[in-house]
Amino acid sequence: MGRFADFHARSIHDRDAFWGEQAKLVDWKVQPQQICDYSNPPFAKWFVGGQTNLCHNAVDRHLAERADQPALIFVSTETDQEKTYTFRDLHAEVQRMAAILKDLGVVKGDRVLIYMPMIAEAAFAMLACARLGAIHSVVFGGFASHSLATRIEDASPKVIISADAGSRGGKGVPYKPLLDEAIQLSAHKPTNVIMVDRKLAAFTPVAGRDVDYATERAKHMDAVVPCEWVESTHPSYTLYTSGTTGKPKGVQRDTGGYTVALAASIPHIYQGKPGGTFFCTSDIGWVVGHSYIIYGPLIGGMATIMYEGLPIRPDGGIWWSLVEKYKVNVMFSAPTAIRVLKKQDPALLTKYDLSSLQALFLAGEPLDEPTAKWISEGLGGKPIIDNYWQTETGWPILTICNGVEKAPSKFGSPGKAVYGYNVKLVDDQTGEELTGANQKGVLTIEGPLPPGNLQTIWGDDERFVKTYWKTVPNKLVYSTFDWAVRDEDGYFFILGRTDDVINVAGHRLGTREIEESISSHPNVAEVAVVGVADQLKGQVAMAFAIAKDTSGLTDAAARLKLEGEVMKVVDSQLGAVARPSRVFFVSALPKTRSGKLLRRAIQAVAEGRDPGDLTTMDDPAALQQIVDLVKG
Ligand code: ATP
Ligand code: MG
Repeated sequence: MGRFADFHARSIHDRDAFWGEQAKLVDWKVQPQQICDYSNPPFAKWFVGGQTNLCHNAVDRHLAERADQPALIFVSTETDQEKTYTFRDLHAEVQRMAAILKDLGVVKGDRVLIYMPMIAEAAFAMLACARLGAIHSVVFGGFASHSLATRIEDASPKVIISADAGSRGGKGVPYKPLLDEAIQLSAHKPTNVIMVDRKLAAFTPVAGRDVDYATERAKHMDAVVPCEWVESTHPSYTLYTSGTTGKPKGVQRDTGGYTVALAASIPHIYQGKPGGTFFCTSDIGWVVGHSYIIYGPLIGGMATIMYEGLPIRPDGGIWWSLVEKYKVNVMFSAPTAIRVLKKQDPALLTKYDLSSLQALFLAGEPLDEPTAKWISEGLGGKPIIDNYWQTETGWPILTICNGVEKAPSKFGSPGKAVYGYNVKLVDDQTGEELTGANQKGVLTIEGPLPPGNLQTIWGDDERFVKTYWKTVPNKLVYSTFDWAVRDEDGYFFILGRTDDVINVAGHRLGTREIEESISSHPNVAEVAVVGVADQLKGQVAMAFAIAKDTSGLTDAAARLKLEGEVMKVVDSQLGAVARPSRVFFVSALPKTRSGKLLRRAIQAVAEGRDPGDLTTMDDPAALQQIVDLVKG
């Protein structure tokens, strides 16, 4: 057995010993008495009896050895700010923020909602909550008042921390009016709002409710606020899923399990080392931002870069310039961002010294082969490592764990099941496990879910059980709602979401397979395929594509010609059954604010239905384009 295979097997078959060892990577005030309590499935309790603190492990613990090393590197190309906080500085700032929260009556178990742009104060806020044992709920700064209001109601925070404005492309985006409106809309009202005033957008504070961060901070320059030791199972935060498939779910995370899971992932998955630098380009509003902008790198004693700005401003080399300047070792981004960079001058990839960079990790959506190849070649063959995971899991389910044993990547595959995850492919109709190579099934995880995964849905145990554990017949397993196959080497390939399967005249086809095929046409930059109801065949595929070169597509004849070419590609690669009934050319595709295709909404409008909950959609014009095309 290879090293990784052995490591993985031990994590499943000798679970408590395995995780007991990993638990040594973090500091405990009180050692756990029991590693895993799974007496009430599917609810798992990790490191029972243990007491710890997330902020202690991310900050205080490092003071002895690396107080003067960089911890948080804040870079904003929006406001032209750049500031490095050492662990000592971070420790002081977090205590100041914690002191303000304490003044406002925040105690262990209280919720604090954070609605902030990517500024250092947002990191202080998250860590300060963790320090006090308060449960934070970060809401992505791009959400408007309706989405924000539903989250305020669900989390019922005592305090909200916000800022006057975010900034995008050099223009201020006011947050305060959206926040005020959201509080108005919400049945729950916070007692106080802490406002970080960046002086980007003037606002009127609400008397008696709003407090000014700078004023309060000045009163607490020497604040000493000790960490509140909490039970391992104490919730650290709640965070909503992206809402790609419907109403967002409030994922609830514990403290001890999450700390251990992240601490273990830094060496085993990311090959990060204390004193190194981690650069994750996500946003704190997403799970990737929680785990790998804030907590993971800091727990691992690494500096973390928090970047506010676009990937292409001042130019498409900005991220690589940061890699050079801060000697980034580990970089983490999303395929959608790489596709943006792909449209820029390729010379920007070779302009900077990237010798410090060990690997680039990508997660959040399928990594298509052309994008993977482009970035891999551009970075001179450095490992490009696909991570497959979910908000629910908090850290990767599938990837290559090079820190355990070096293994090659395969294009199109996120890799193998990560240690701790007892991944099973099952038949969705019978619940039967599929053990053969290249059999297509639903990717499920046998309980207990490993440390760091969701404990439940906030305030709704029943929804947790019903949503995730009751969808596979005859089995209590966690469903990811993604289709996958596993090849003879144990590498998984994600084929799309279970609700993205279309049934054409009895043939079950993954929309992702059809998209891959269409993407291989040289003039297709991006494409979404959905199933549309059809009287004859049950369903047919319909495609919405963005052409790379639109100059020749000015008239209907040219568009028809390209449409025909695309259909031929699908015919030859997958067969005529998968051929889309139509291929429409659009300038943009509707996505969630985290960059995921909203196939659910596309499908609804393609069938002339109401698209439903669109609160997490980024660009309404993109969906309107499809409405018009389908009608026309
Ligand atoms: P919701 O659950 O509210 O519908 P969502 O599933 O989009 O939203 P996330 O938790 O942000 O919310 O996304 C997880 C999903 O993203 C996975 O289930 C999978 O479908 C997709 N995904 C993530 N990483 C990858 C990857 N590396 N390859 C393919 N798909 C991925
Ligand atoms: Mg999901």
